[in-house]
Amino acid sequence: MASRSSSLMWFRKGLRIHDNPALEYASKGSKFVYPLFVIDPHYMEPDPNAFSPGSSRAGLNRIRFLLESLVDLDLSLKKLGSRLLILKGDPSEVVVRCLKEWNVNKLCFEYDTDPYYQALDEKVKDYASTAGIEVFSPVSHTLFNPAEVIQKNGGKPPLSYQSFLKVAGQPLWASAPLTISLPLLSPVGDVGSCEISEVPTVEELGYRDCEQDELTPFRGGESEALKRLRESIRDKEWVANFEKPKGDPSAYLKPATTVLSPYLKFGCLSSRYFYQCLIDVYKNVKKHTSPPVSLVGQLMWRDFFYTVAFATPNFDRMKGNRICKQIPWSNDDELLAAWREARTGYPWIDAIMVQLRKWGWMHHLARHCVACFLTRGDLFVHWEKGRDVFERLLIDSDWEINNGNWLWLSCSSFFYQYNRIYSPVSFGKKYDPNGNYIRHFLPVLKDMPKEYIYEPWAAPLSIQTKAKCIIGKDYPKPVVSHDSASKECRRKMGEAYALNQRLNGQVSEDDLKTLR
Ligand code: FAD
Repeated sequence: MASRSSSLMWFRKGLRIHDNPALEYASKGSKFVYPLFVIDPHYMEPDPNAFSPGSSRAGLNRIRFLLESLVDLDLSLKKLGSRLLILKGDPSEVVVRCLKEWNVNKLCFEYDTDPYYQALDEKVKDYASTAGIEVFSPVSHTLFNPAEVIQKNGGKPPLSYQSFLKVAGQPLWASAPLTISLPLLSPVGDVGSCEISEVPTVEELGYRDCEQDELTPFRGGESEALKRLRESIRDKEWVANFEKPKGDPSAYLKPATTVLSPYLKFGCLSSRYFYQCLIDVYKNVKKHTSPPVSLVGQLMWRDFFYTVAFATPNFDRMKGNRICKQIPWSNDDELLAAWREARTGYPWIDAIMVQLRKWGWMHHLARHCVACFLTRGDLFVHWEKGRDVFERLLIDSDWEINNGNWLWLSCSSFFYQYNRIYSPVSFGKKYDPNGNYIRHFLPVLKDMPKEYIYEPWAAPLSIQTKAKCIIGKDYPKPVVSHDSASKECRRKMGEAYALNQRLNGQVSEDDLKTLR
């Protein structure tokens, strides 16, 4: 049995050494430190029925990214004289077992606002308090503590970005340097009868035939995150002039934004460290952009959605969500499948959906286009269905940010100008008139002349034949006509908004039926 001065560092997100207050606290004054990660079947178990490889909750790209992050964390811990302990099972049961078996007196883990972790954490904390184990669970995934911002705002979340900025102010920790490296860690003690394994491979997790023709180019882990951060901030002018809506969503060889989101999602990169690096750049340039469009502004969007999500019951659904407009969305599974499987017949939309499946990452405006198309722009399919597809396939899939942005894009909350619809033809053309992005992600259209690459159905048959792509055979015809579908969507949104206003948001299922 281990000695009485042991701490358990439970890694979930926060897969890093730098700026990790839970790890720092675990290592203080402990004879033994047990760094643990639990492989959770709820998240990782292969789903043979999924339309692309992965579990029902996470696509294979994200699972690989997580495993790479764990391998990197293990290497870093080894450099500090420790190692990562991997166990499998229901995380709360596994952690409680370890607390008992290893005779732990200090349990440390990063605070998580995600409802799934909130429920797990309650169970673990209940056991710890009955067993007299100290629990240290600091907020370090976000810049601000969402609970504090809500409290400062009179118990309610600020519902607009500007009011969020006003209430949140400056992060308190921002003037002090963060702990970026740790001295050696205390060793791992006796692990008793726990069957510790190495970080598994995807094959060891049970994934078979999981070859994909193109894998995400983004590798997981803290080392990769810090390298990417250094590269992103090396060009000080780029950082100083960053203006979000001006980036090119079709730039895939060199994306127009940082692509740090997957690293922030898993906490391979601390958002607080990212913020401090940006402030350092700002100090050394004459002028720089500001929120909402600057890079600091992007981190504030992240915190904004975390804060609203934390204080909004049923944030991830329409029903019972007081900030969500009640809209009679359709549940058309065929249209949903066409969108999900990149078969809408609109090359710009389909190429983005292929990038999602193959890379698990797309530019923000590309996400705008496909989310608008699925919901209020063309197909009028429920935003929750699109959210589910993103949640599974994005490597940066993040409960608070994903739901927040789907609420936004579907004009269900935060943003209400439903008349502003992205054209699935002309929007992409502005950035990439030759259609290089489409040619890369939809090679079936690679020989289509640029005049028709965004609307191949308009190409004469002779041109389709020459391009070896017959519309309706090699590539689908459009599932809807954008002109009439978008007009119909506007009409339905107008009616739904009027109903919401008339009934002051208290719209019932029966009320919605009258609009269907
Ligand atoms: P950068 O522009 O370099 O921004 C830096 C960081 O700021 C990002 O990494 C991210 O953490 C944060 N950020 C940027 N834009 C937003 C935003 N609109 N809302 C909140 N935080 C933001 N982002 C996710 O991280 N996970 C998601 O699951 C997710 N789902 C989305 C769903 C939809 C429908 C839409 C429209 C957007 C979604 N986003 C999501 C937000 C945004 O598109 C990505 O954060 C961004 O494109 C990631 O690329 P980047 O790291 O290069 O961003």
